[in-house]
Amino acid sequence: MNRTVTLIVPCYNEEESLPIFYDAVCEVARGLPQVDFTFLLVNDGSKDGTLGVMRALAAKDERVKYLSFSRNFGKEAAMYAGLCNAKGEYVAVMDADMQDPPSLLPQMIEALDTGEYDSVATRRVTRAGEPKLRSFFARRFYRIINRISDADVVDGARDFRLMRREMVQAIVEMGEYNRFSKGIFGWIGFRTKWLPYENVERVAGETKWSFFKLFKYSIDGIINFSQAPLSVASWMGILLTFVAFLMVVFVVVRRLLFGDPVAGWASTICVILFIGGIQLLCMGIMGQYLAKTYMEVKGRPHYIVAESNDPDVKRVR
Ligand code: UDP
Ligand code: MG
Repeated sequence: MNRTVTLIVPCYNEEESLPIFYDAVCEVARGLPQVDFTFLLVNDGSKDGTLGVMRALAAKDERVKYLSFSRNFGKEAAMYAGLCNAKGEYVAVMDADMQDPPSLLPQMIEALDTGEYDSVATRRVTRAGEPKLRSFFARRFYRIINRISDADVVDGARDFRLMRREMVQAIVEMGEYNRFSKGIFGWIGFRTKWLPYENVERVAGETKWSFFKLFKYSIDGIINFSQAPLSVASWMGILLTFVAFLMVVFVVVRRLLFGDPVAGWASTICVILFIGGIQLLCMGIMGQYLAKTYMEVKGRPHYIVAESNDPDVKRVR
């Protein structure tokens, strides 16, 4: 019996990269006759000809399944849709831009075949070709999220991983609306083997992540997997109350002993502004959690499928 492997490929404006990616995987697949590959291409509301490329690939190769969203729902939603609809015994998530090298697949499949692992994940050990500032903030982010949350997020970890069915099932069960896959992978546990590799730059097209989008994504990651910011707000409140108490004692004693006349407009304003700032910050932190809760409670679907060549595909989830 052949192994079945489903490759989930989230695509947003990848008309140039997708054919290159497809050819590269076919090349790898030819070297692995004992493995049956299926593609599950997810078109995340692309504005270019990506959907056309998918239809063409599906027409000439029956291993190609695709589903197309009604609009852009984001990579997290695209991966979730893929995981919900993948049928293989092993399932991999891969980017279409060749930054997740298909040449690693044989090694990954072999590692799962030994039975010692439930997933094989990849980690880039260099950040070559990436802006310095971005690397700096990325490193800080990994340090912070690992310190304050119980999701174990590995520095440089990619979303590229091969998983067993059991693990895929566990991820599908994590039906939260605000998804942060790097955290989810770490949170569910299972035995994971890490494959380090050198960073590869994308073959065509351009990255969809601006610095600001990445920054927002990292804040989302922290809020989704940690309550530490809320504790910081509480501790700041306690500390400020303590300082305020000392100030009161100081001012009252000084007034009684020295009969201090009115003075100190500047310092008063500074204190008011400072405390006002901290109050707004703490309200902002609470607001972030409230907003997440609000979205979660609404229970809106993660994605809406407008078109697919697979009749079994779940249209909404
Ligand atoms: N992607 C997606 N929806 C989006 C943004 C990106 O499906 O809204 C896909 C994209 O097509 C690619 C993968 O996610 O296959 C990674 O995107 P990108 O290469 O832009 O990210 P980077 O590698 O720069 O982190
Ligand atoms: Mg990329």
